[in-house]
Formats: sequence, C-alpha cells, structure tokens
Amino acid sequence: MQRKISIFGATGSIGTNTLDLIRRDSGAYNVVALSGAGNIDLLAKTAIEFRAEIAVTAYEDRLEDLRAALQGSGIEAAAGANAIAEAAARPVDWGMSAIVGAAGLRTSMALAEHGGILALANKESMVCAGDLLLSQCAEHGTTLLPVDSEHSALFQAMNGENRKALRRLILTASGGPFKDFTVEQMRPVTPEQAVKHPKWDMGQRISIDSASMFNKALEVIEAKYLFSCSSDQIEVVVHPQAIVHSMVEYIDNSIIAHMGSPDMRGAIGYALSWPERAENPIERLNFAELGDLSFSRPDETKFPALRLAREALGMGGHAGAIFNAAKEAALDAFIGRRIGFLDMATLVEKTLYNAHLEPTRDSVQSSVSEIFSADAEARRIVDALI
Ligand code: NDP
Ligand code: MG
Repeated sequence: MQRKISIFGATGSIGTNTLDLIRRDSGAYNVVALSGAGNIDLLAKTAIEFRAEIAVTAYEDRLEDLRAALQGSGIEAAAGANAIAEAAARPVDWGMSAIVGAAGLRTSMALAEHGGILALANKESMVCAGDLLLSQCAEHGTTLLPVDSEHSALFQAMNGENRKALRRLILTASGGPFKDFTVEQMRPVTPEQAVKHPKWDMGQRISIDSASMFNKALEVIEAKYLFSCSSDQIEVVVHPQAIVHSMVEYIDNSIIAHMGSPDMRGAIGYALSWPERAENPIERLNFAELGDLSFSRPDETKFPALRLAREALGMGGHAGAIFNAAKEAALDAFIGRRIGFLDMATLVEKTLYNAHLEPTRDSVQSSVSEIFSADAEARRIVDALI
C-alpha cells in the first residue's frame, strides 16, 4: 500500500533532499501536498513530477503564476499562510515540516494532528512552542521524529535505552566558517562569507545561523524540549569534521555517539524508513581515510548565542519564541546589510531583556496565537533598536 505523504518547504534544501529520497522509490508514496514560497517553477515542476494533489505557495501574489505553471495538470493550486495550514490539515501518514523559520509552526501543529509521523526539520517550531507541539503530538498519537541531524543522532543513540539513565546530551557543532576568527576579524564579515558553511550544504538562513552559532543555540533549546532534559544536561562541543553528529552520555559513563557523512539525507532517510533502516545514497565512512577527529569547547565570548539560549531556556514560556523572532529579525537585517555580523547577538540580547516583553516572558505556552503575538512584539523591538 502506498504511503500518503506531504512535504512543506518542498523547494528548499531539506525539501529537495527529501524528494531525492522519495524519487528513488516513488511507487511507494502518494504525494498529497507540496509547499514552497518564491520558487514557483520548482514547486510546479515537482508537483507535476510527483503527481501531488495540491501545490501551495506562501505568497498570495504568486497564485496566478502557480496556476499558470500547473495548467492542464489537474493539480490544485493555492496560496498564502492559511492555504498552507489547510493543506497541512489533509490527512497523511508522514509529513515533513521543512519551512524555514517560525512561519513553519502552524504547519508542524497541523501535521501533528494526523496520528502518523511528523518529520520535524523546522527546529523553530520546537524552540517557539515545544510544549504545545509535544502535547499536540501526544493528544493525537503522532510520532515526532527529529530531522535536525544532531537531534536525529541523539534520538538514535537513545534507541532502546532507559531515559532515566541518561546523564548528558553532547551536541556537536562544526564551528562554522569563522571558528578560528578573532572577534575583530568577525566584525566586518559579509553575508556572502557567512553563508559558506565548511561541511554542510544547507539553506541560506541556517548557514548564516551556523556561522554565528545561533543555529546551535536554537538546537540547545530544541534538545531541551525534545528530550525533556534541563539546560545543564546539554553540552555543546566544537567538532570541525562533522562526523560525530551528537552523543549521549549515560550514568554508567558510557557514551553512545552517532556518526556518518555530513549529508542531511541520512537523518531524513532515517525518519522516512523509521522504525526500520533502509539503504540510502550517502557516502559511507572510511575510517582509515578520515584522519583525526577533534573536539573543543566553544568560545562563548566570541559566540554569545549559546549563552543567550541558556538564558532564554531559564526564562521558559514564550522566551524561546522571543529569542527566535529576535534572531530572525536580526538575521534579516544582517542579510539586508543594515547591521553587522556581531550586532545580531547584541540585538537578540537587548530584545530578550526588553521590558515590553515582561508580560509574556514568564507565562506558560498556552496557544499558538500567543506565541505569534510574542514573536511579532520581538520583531517590532528589533526593528525599533536598529
Ligand atoms: P531553505 O531556505 O533551503 O528552504 C526553505 C523552504 O521554506 C523553501 O521551500 C521556501 O520556499 C519555504 N519558505 C520560505 N519562506 C517561507 C514562508 N514565509 N512561508 C512558507 N514557506 C516558506 O531552508 P532549509 O531547507 O535549509 O531549512 C528548512 C528548515 O529545516 C529550517 O527550519 C532549518 O532550520 C531546518 N534544518 C535545515 C537543515 C539543512 O540542512 N538545510 C538541517 C537541519 C535543520 P522557496 O524556496 O520556494 O522560496
Ligand atoms: Mg543541526
């Protein structure tokens, strides 16, 4: 029987890697919905190739372009954030949440209602609304499988283990392109330099977040919710070779590490074949040729993002949403060359501690609309600070 699947963020780095795996066994899948934003040609081409029921662009003013590109195919076209949420509500057995940013939260929440598998690449959903998303999954019997490579690694290193025996999660970070830069060398870097990740081939925004270590900061928060542990149980180590994707330490001092080539099709393929394992096209590791694997402590004075993530975790409630929204707004300003690279962390810190956010900061996560209010307020504060 064919498995019903949907992919949100189908035109992005995770989306196209997911489709690459699906394409290799396309008879096994029935594609329900695909979404994209600006890349209409790729969205339409992919929807036609996989005979999707519906293709949705996030941009309402691109609906006519999408309709034209799909003409004669019989595939439905739709546009806008509501249309994406409605498409995500169509029942599937497996749904990939791979829209970038907090814009992916509604999709994750809708996919969590199907009682099947939610493959979660959109880490921002966990950072902004971890409590809400986990309870949505629990309520509907949905299995959440992390796709972020570190969290997939941790999940795999916990297979069959008693979580009570878990002592520490060790998240690896490649260190990004500026690992060996001084603060002064980092000050003038451009978006073009920041986007060049030494190991992973990813979308523009996550690549720049890796250079500032905001990506790892989001991942610390993501890990805290996913594996319900405290922030002091989560350690980050810099591992430039990106071969060890993360590790779990147990109370008997054993450490279980997950290793593999730095290729997202590993984590995506795991979520696709779970609970089984399936062959995939990624490069196999050859230990004799790998050379040294090295590990070191991240420099939190150079990369304040990690400290800020822990502070946000300490605040709880909506602080994750505020942290993420401030980071997204600061990243937009950096990409738009309105601020420098180091200003991103300064803006996030000022926003996290802004008095206007006091009423939302300590509250519990009660609804997605409240999360979005906190998100909007944080973006307003960042814009006012620039
Ligand atoms: P990309 O930028 O490559 O792709 C983003 C996708 O989201 C595209 O399909 C894009 O459409 C769509 N999109 C952009 N803006 C919006 C919006 N406002 N509303 C709806 N859709 C939108 O990102 P990645 O694939 O790199 O990342 C996707 C998610 O996965 C992120 O949350 C990221 O943190 C996470 N992730 C990614 C990894 C990677 O290796 N890339 C690794 C681990 C996690 P279009 O291109 O048509 O404009
Ligand atoms: Mg990651």
